[in-house]
Amino acid sequence: MAQLSDDCFAHGGRLMRVDEARRLLAEILTPVTSSEPVALHQALGRILAEDIVSPVDIPPAPNSAVDGYAVFHADLDAEAETRLPVIGRVTAGQSELPVARPGTAIRIFTGARLPAGPDTVMMQEDCTLEGDPEAPWVVIKPGIKKGANARKAGEDVIKGSTVLSHGQRLRPQDVGQAAAVGRREVTVSTRLKVGLFSTGDELREPGTPLEVGAIYDSNRYTIHALLTGLGCQVDDLGILPDRLDVVQQALDAARDRHDLLVTSGGVSVGEEDHVKAAVEALGKLHLWRLAVKPGRPIALGQVGRVPFVGLPGNPVAVVVTFLTVVRPLILRLMGGKDTPPHTFRVRAGFDHKKKKDRREWLRARLVDDTSGGLTAEKFPHEGAGILSSLVAADGLIELPEDLTRLEAGAMVDFLPFSEVAQ
Ligand code: AMP
Ligand code: MG
Repeated sequence: MAQLSDDCFAHGGRLMRVDEARRLLAEILTPVTSSEPVALHQALGRILAEDIVSPVDIPPAPNSAVDGYAVFHADLDAEAETRLPVIGRVTAGQSELPVARPGTAIRIFTGARLPAGPDTVMMQEDCTLEGDPEAPWVVIKPGIKKGANARKAGEDVIKGSTVLSHGQRLRPQDVGQAAAVGRREVTVSTRLKVGLFSTGDELREPGTPLEVGAIYDSNRYTIHALLTGLGCQVDDLGILPDRLDVVQQALDAARDRHDLLVTSGGVSVGEEDHVKAAVEALGKLHLWRLAVKPGRPIALGQVGRVPFVGLPGNPVAVVVTFLTVVRPLILRLMGGKDTPPHTFRVRAGFDHKKKKDRREWLRARLVDDTSGGLTAEKFPHEGAGILSSLVAADGLIELPEDLTRLEAGAMVDFLPFSEVAQ
């Protein structure tokens, strides 16, 4: 269970740059999860809680990279064809090896161990066979380099080296790497148990009738998917009405069972926004005013000693604040390394003006341009409530604080959703 130092989110209330917010979060938060062994099939997307050191060399022995003929390079004529008798055969997985002698060749297949002696493998496509099929000769074209197609022991991984390290999130190739060094299980951080609420009298559950004035709750589904994508175990706790007593009771009841509580909506300053008061009554709450657009303040605090994140209500602000601030916070609580997502330079296909001193994210889709690169097109509606703009987008253009004017054709940083929304 989370153990926060009292009031760790406190800060001066100034407008905070997003870099500063991330740095502060990295400083004040410590992992709250423990660790557990999981079978490799369950390891995808989990955060490794150990260093994995290889007990073996990979490959364990010299072997062939192709189907062909293992030869002594010194036997080959550099200018003309060479004819060698084929005196043995070795296939992948074969443990007894034929004895090779200078002046001969060994038939060999991809992945088969190289017998002692030969240092080069000729691809079968560069050879012809002649003579008795029972005792053939191989005719080899000139020009092969010494060592070609011969894999060395340990050329991939050296015994004793760290192949995967503590805090990294496991991708498919990482799971494969664990298998390649012989692991059936790996130790990973336990899933962060997150209790998730929406707040708002206007919200209805999808699949139920929608009366006048109501809308369907989409944020809970977006946030659930974002959290699940990060490897959290999400407890969907439904919709809370705009009533202080109900919100307070629900948060109080949820805290013991979770490592983190997340809400959306109800953190503005209107008199129907009760999340702030409820959290303050149960613990501490700070509105971090971030110098970003879109985004309103993000509420960070604790309910008792359990960390609390109050996301905005507007669906676009939810996604942008989640991806830029909450995602690193969650990875940190789960013991993940702070590896900032990559952005990619693309060409802007539009002009844009912005306010100085705040970071702005524009929803954009990428189109192939005539120069063979990618151009980012901005979605025309910029409202923070327009969820369909996120659906149409491939990612976000990140405009830095000091920029005030962007002209079409300039290069901009693009953050693909595929980098972060998983
Ligand atoms: P609030 O911060 O509660 O004032 O909400 C700001 C805007 O976001 C309002 O237009 C709400 O109707 C909308 N909103 C709040 N929560 C959700 C939600 N769970 N799903 C969709 N829209 C929401
Ligand atoms: Mg509301």
